[in-house]
Amino acid sequence: MEQKSKELFETAKCYIPGGVNSPVRAFGAVGRTPRFIASARGSRIVDADGNEMIDYVCSWGPGILGHAHPRVIEKVKEACDFGLTYGAPTEKEVELAKLIAEMVPSVEVSRLVNSGTEAVMSAIRVARGYTGRDKIIKFKGCYHGHSDGLLVKAGSAALTTSVPDSAGVPLDYTKHTLVAQYNDPSSVKALFEENPKDIAAVIVEPVAANMGVVLPQTGFLEFLRDITKMYGALLIFDEVITGFRLSPGGAQEYYHVTPDLTTLGKIVGGGMPIGAYGGKREIMQMVSPAGDVYQAGTLSGNPIATTAGIETLKILREDSGIYERLENKAGKIADAVTLSSNKDICVNQAGSLLGIFFTSQKVDNYESAVSSNTSEYAKYFGYLLEHGIYTAPSQFEAMFLSDAHTDEDIEITCRVMGEYLSA
Ligand SMILES: *Cc1c(COP(=O)(O)O)cnc(C)c1O
Repeated sequence: MEQKSKELFETAKCYIPGGVNSPVRAFGAVGRTPRFIASARGSRIVDADGNEMIDYVCSWGPGILGHAHPRVIEKVKEACDFGLTYGAPTEKEVELAKLIAEMVPSVEVSRLVNSGTEAVMSAIRVARGYTGRDKIIKFKGCYHGHSDGLLVKAGSAALTTSVPDSAGVPLDYTKHTLVAQYNDPSSVKALFEENPKDIAAVIVEPVAANMGVVLPQTGFLEFLRDITKMYGALLIFDEVITGFRLSPGGAQEYYHVTPDLTTLGKIVGGGMPIGAYGGKREIMQMVSPAGDVYQAGTLSGNPIATTAGIETLKILREDSGIYERLENKAGKIADAVTLSSNKDICVNQAGSLLGIFFTSQKVDNYESAVSSNTSEYAKYFGYLLEHGIYTAPSQFEAMFLSDAHTDEDIEITCRVMGEYLSA
């Protein structure tokens, strides 16, 4: 039953472009009508027709604790009684910045913004201000939000929509964006050799999670650390997905590689709109009003969002077993998929992130990711959806585990996936 969702989608298309407020939500890549969600609790979401589903989208990452965690909800409700926004500093912002600094190895000082897009856009501006250079290197298939200069060979919905890059972005805005191949040091080296004094920063998703999930090969992140140092460029880890997900300190702690700047989003807001960027004091002192790199925000550090972020990070920090539990659950699904499948499949796992690709290739970069059979994925997605399992409506998005997924949820999921894949 998806009558109500269908009706809502028809009306939505009259008033919202494509009927959605972010492209991947439209289910275009899997040729279906999106489910309109009415409520969510723990591991389950319920759509407008009353269908309950086990959710592996988790709002694209923020939901590491599951939906509506009682402690987070209680604190947010309390905070509402004190007013929604002041446009003046609050104690909560200090508390969140301190938590971030204590948890994320590379961050001493950070600035709060309202989305991952804003965090990345601002971190790049800081890198350019700090180095006095214009060019940046990004990787094919990595997504860093929708700011002009970064919509070049981007991942996420930009991989499945008909426009590979975006209309409305002047060539002049992307001419300083150089594109390298993920997991290919020689492609990075070549760009540095051609532009030895012009590269301000290399930005990378330490685990690429917007072309499906692609793991960094051994030594790749270390190589990026070394070459940026050698050429006086900054290394930026875009940890909008991996931050607080792979470990309390994100991918940089998980892989023991410390970048100069880090961008955060998703989990840092605990389900509310927050992004953050930070790094060493010396670099972050560039940001206005301490320095000359301008960056501002009317709702930045909003007290309600900040409250949700603080409580979420506190729970993650207090619960020492959470990352192992998450990894084990993801591992069970990975094993079930690998064992049951009669189809050509590649499963990539990093902690609680899973990428299930319908391809015979080993997926370690953009080309191998897009070798996947997207119509196979669409069929698989449809089968899961009809059996109460809600996964990403695109081959090129991650599957997210949360601490709220129960053993029973995982069992059901393995069984349904197994049924489909072994058929
Ligand atoms: C989601 C994401 C962004 C953009 O964050 P928004 O909050 O959607 O603007 C940037 N970088 C990465 C790695 C992301 O996954």
